[in-house]
Amino acid sequence: MPKSKYPKSDWIRPLVRDLHPYTPGEQPKVKGLVKLNTNENPYPPSPKVLKSVRDAVDGRFRLYPNPTAQQLRDKLADLHGVDRDRVIVGNGSDELLALATRAFVEPASKRKDASGRSVVQYWVPSYSLYPVLSDIHGAIRNEVPLKPDFGMPSVAKLKSEGKWHFKAALTYVTTPNAPTGRGYSNKELRALCRAQDGIVILDEAYVDFAEENAMSLAAEFPNVLISRTFSKAYSLCFQRMGYFVGHPHLIRALDSIRDSYNVNGIGQVAALETLKHRSYYRANFKKIIRLRTEVGSELEQLGFDVLPSQTNFLFVKPPGAEAAKWYEGLRKKKILVRWFSSSAFKDRLRITIGSAEEMDQCMDAIRSLAKKLSDW
Ligand SMILES: *Cc1c(COP(=O)(O)O)cnc(C)c1O
Repeated sequence: MPKSKYPKSDWIRPLVRDLHPYTPGEQPKVKGLVKLNTNENPYPPSPKVLKSVRDAVDGRFRLYPNPTAQQLRDKLADLHGVDRDRVIVGNGSDELLALATRAFVEPASKRKDASGRSVVQYWVPSYSLYPVLSDIHGAIRNEVPLKPDFGMPSVAKLKSEGKWHFKAALTYVTTPNAPTGRGYSNKELRALCRAQDGIVILDEAYVDFAEENAMSLAAEFPNVLISRTFSKAYSLCFQRMGYFVGHPHLIRALDSIRDSYNVNGIGQVAALETLKHRSYYRANFKKIIRLRTEVGSELEQLGFDVLPSQTNFLFVKPPGAEAAKWYEGLRKKKILVRWFSSSAFKDRLRITIGSAEEMDQCMDAIRSLAKKLSDW
């Protein structure tokens, strides 16, 4: 390359140059840190899953994996009582959430879009990946605030207020929601899905910690996709395994634009084995849910405002000092939680429910900080 050439900013598309990329929760290298910031499961995968992965490390690495994750799709279809053509597997559910923008949303040529073809819509707060996916695709974001108690406004209310776009090409609903932890009832979700003329993705990343799931809505409505992941409840973040269930028409659209080998072979092995040991995982859900209740009431006694949670985390407003101070104070005591510094809810912290030992350490740190509040 001649010397006069230098990296010019206009080699990069303006859309990409100006993008605010997704910020994943920190994966710190600090030893002995109690990591309660990314909603990972404190329990390891079933020993049988780990064995299946070890046993798969052999000469087959030479070969491409099954391109449609066929065995896994079949098992997932059985699990949910649907036909195989209603399931697609992705490299984490994040991959499928991104594919959905490409399959269902027209990049915007104007700033306004009454037809909704270029509109990606979601509640605020919800999963912070959605705006990034929308921006990457050059779509128009429609961000609609939840109620002050983080509940969903009724369809009637949405219609009267006029901010919600009932023809949005794509609507993402995190349910139960993150980072609030709040669950939505199937009744209100059904009303929303029915009113919507466009695709609705119900992102159920945390549903195994909830009382209700909305899988039946994928059978009831041709415009609804249910998103699930092995990451959080099934201790498999590392392997990147997620899937959608929905109408074959929508699944086919997603299938036609994905990479041929989007799901790696070891991930397929691990997910398949996971499905054989669901009772192991159910026992873990129970432990996490029990601990969630205990930690929640202890925090309330210490003066925290604790939102009711249907997930494996608590979204809390700490007393006395700003959330930023609590975040820093906890970090000094080697407890890492999530604080969304530049958001409308920067007065709150999101605390993942870890193991009993981890939560003991976390509560010890919180109690000692609460005592010192007056010194801050
Ligand atoms: C963690 C999370 C995901 C991502 O799941 P992966 O399958 O690991 O990509 C999707 N949606 C929500 C709301 C999440 O919190």
